[in-house]
Amino acid sequence: MTVTPAERRRARTILDRLRRRYPVIRTALGYADPWQLLVATVLSAQTTDDTVNRVTPELFRRWPSPRLLAQANPEEVESVVFSTGFYRQKTRAVIELSADLADRFSGIVPDDLERLVTLKGVGRKTASVVLAEAFGLPAIAVDTHVSRVSRRLGLVADGNPVKVEAALKELYPEAKWPGISMRFIQFGRDTCIARRPRCPECILRDRCPYPDKTVGA
Ligand code: SF4
Repeated sequence: MTVTPAERRRARTILDRLRRRYPVIRTALGYADPWQLLVATVLSAQTTDDTVNRVTPELFRRWPSPRLLAQANPEEVESVVFSTGFYRQKTRAVIELSADLADRFSGIVPDDLERLVTLKGVGRKTASVVLAEAFGLPAIAVDTHVSRVSRRLGLVADGNPVKVEAALKELYPEAKWPGISMRFIQFGRDTCIARRPRCPECILRDRCPYPDKTVGA
């Protein structure tokens, strides 16, 4: 993909405005180390970060390392993560992930995408969240919000997460990557909402080619 200087300028304007709107932004998930963020991210599927934050202190108090969580009694873990929903699948996922991490990486979360995605149950999105958030490394995690916002703003043509990630990495210099996902996600949650985007109050409406937007006060 060849990016023109005009496309790059436009992309920079969009990110600059989002940076002004969300000057400081990081995941709302509570964690003390990369492994805890991995586990919390797995638990956050189909629920809110607040719900996850209510259960993880107890989870990590009772099983404070990958090895200990790997050896946990699943029923006891289920009782702790119950309120996050899909608690059986999530329990199995965090136990298997922790066992894999303990066995193959001595319990130390690798800090590169290639090895992170070899961990059981860890996809590109989760791996990128951990790289950007826990390690401060250049990565762009693409979820449904990032994909939708990028498409509506005409930054990408295709909503496929791998293609969105590649297109955003082409548009923005590496130093900007860690700050992109969380801002797009927050903007997708409070303004460029999936069903009814709040176009009249949108700070990007003059830059947005989305055909269904409504403009005006
Ligand atoms: S104008 Fe509407 S569709 Fe475009 S980015 Fe803003 S909220 Fe989203």
